[in-house]
Amino acid sequence: MPFPPVVHQLAAACRDAGGRAYVVGGIVRDRVLAELQGREPPPPKDLDIEVHGIEADDLQALLRRLGRVSEVGRSFGVYKLSAGPLGLDVSLPRRDSKAGPGHRGIDVQGDPHMGVVEAARRRDLTINAMLLDPLTGEVLDPHGGRADLAAGKLRAVDDDCFLEDPLRAVRVVQFAGRLGFSVDAGLVALCRKADLHELPAERIWMELEKLLLRSERPSVGLRVGRETAVLPRVLPQVRGWERDAAEVDAAVDRAAAWQPQVGRAPRSLALMLGALLHREAVEDAEAALLHLRVHRSGRYPLRDRVLHAVAHWRELVGADVDDTLLRRLAEDGEVAVVGGVALAASGAVSVEHVLRRAGMLGVLHEPLPALVQGRDLMDLGTPPGPTMGRILADVRHAQLAGRVGNREEALALVRSLLDG
Ligand code: ATP
Ligand code: MG
Repeated sequence: MPFPPVVHQLAAACRDAGGRAYVVGGIVRDRVLAELQGREPPPPKDLDIEVHGIEADDLQALLRRLGRVSEVGRSFGVYKLSAGPLGLDVSLPRRDSKAGPGHRGIDVQGDPHMGVVEAARRRDLTINAMLLDPLTGEVLDPHGGRADLAAGKLRAVDDDCFLEDPLRAVRVVQFAGRLGFSVDAGLVALCRKADLHELPAERIWMELEKLLLRSERPSVGLRVGRETAVLPRVLPQVRGWERDAAEVDAAVDRAAAWQPQVGRAPRSLALMLGALLHREAVEDAEAALLHLRVHRSGRYPLRDRVLHAVAHWRELVGADVDDTLLRRLAEDGEVAVVGGVALAASGAVSVEHVLRRAGMLGVLHEPLPALVQGRDLMDLGTPPGPTMGRILADVRHAQLAGRVGNREEALALVRSLLDG
């Protein structure tokens, strides 16, 4: 799959100005991996470009001729180029060195002439440290990324600098799950030593979200997360990391396979989080989600859905699941999510039947629509007030129990309640 034209225009402009522009980061990794596995590379999502041999001012001028440019780097040379719908992150070669504690305290020093070997040293993993020349298709691989991709291994680019950014330890967990890779013993030891205290929760969540949504077998990441003690440290609210490891591993893998059935994120994310947390007490699950600042996703009440599933999934496992229960669960949760978690947790085929039944009842994703409303009661002469509230509640109750199934039956019940 070719890169968008603006990438080639940029690369050609850089070459004409005496420099070189390389595509870097995850896209190169994904392409080389696809090539090794003999499949089509995935379409690029975000495009990272690194430009060598051109001074910052000249690069800015050059970028302005291609599109709208905004500077995003705090101190040195990262530009966002917007050309049409596409956004490119363009950066100059730099060295990141730790200036203070934590993820925020990183001092950046740039030098357009440092060369690709040096520039790639600031990357986290060898597989993420390759550069691709879009004009020739040549891949530069200064740290042995291709061999590690072929071997299915995560390795640090540079053991001495790896811990300068402790977020990298969480990224290792994410990539292990997402790629299904093993982790080099030296890197395991480094991750164990990482000081994770000052990592912002949002950054941790970004990595966990990718682990949950993009892994065929997220359990591979969870295993690495336990082995490196990264997960118990970044999310101590979860008590079952070790205690329930086998059940949770099985559940997240089953949930990952079931994801297409619940639909895209944020629903699939609710399913995955439910599977991850299904053996936790609801309070602990809530504390974990609060810690990660998981609230809503757009209009979707992500945290509520997850907690509802954690609280109720057991009710959907077993023989005696009746229609009333399904209609009730849809009142304050999402049956597709609770059921998905039940399926993930139990592996029971019966849950698939339950979910199909919920679909037939129309309560897979939302509650039953109301059959009568306040204004219907007002038409029948009932003013707003406690009586109206009671009657509406009784009708709803009858609807959930399957005793009234349409508007006529509901209105008949209203009349009989008014008479009685
Ligand atoms: P994804 O497919 O999830 O986008 P990615 O590898 O592209 O994966 P990004 O977060 O987009 O991940 O980062 C782009 C590149 O920047 C990475 O491939 C890596 O080389 C480098 N990078 C990102 N975060 C770090 C970090 N914390 N430490 C070192 N290098 C990093
Ligand atoms: Mg990326």
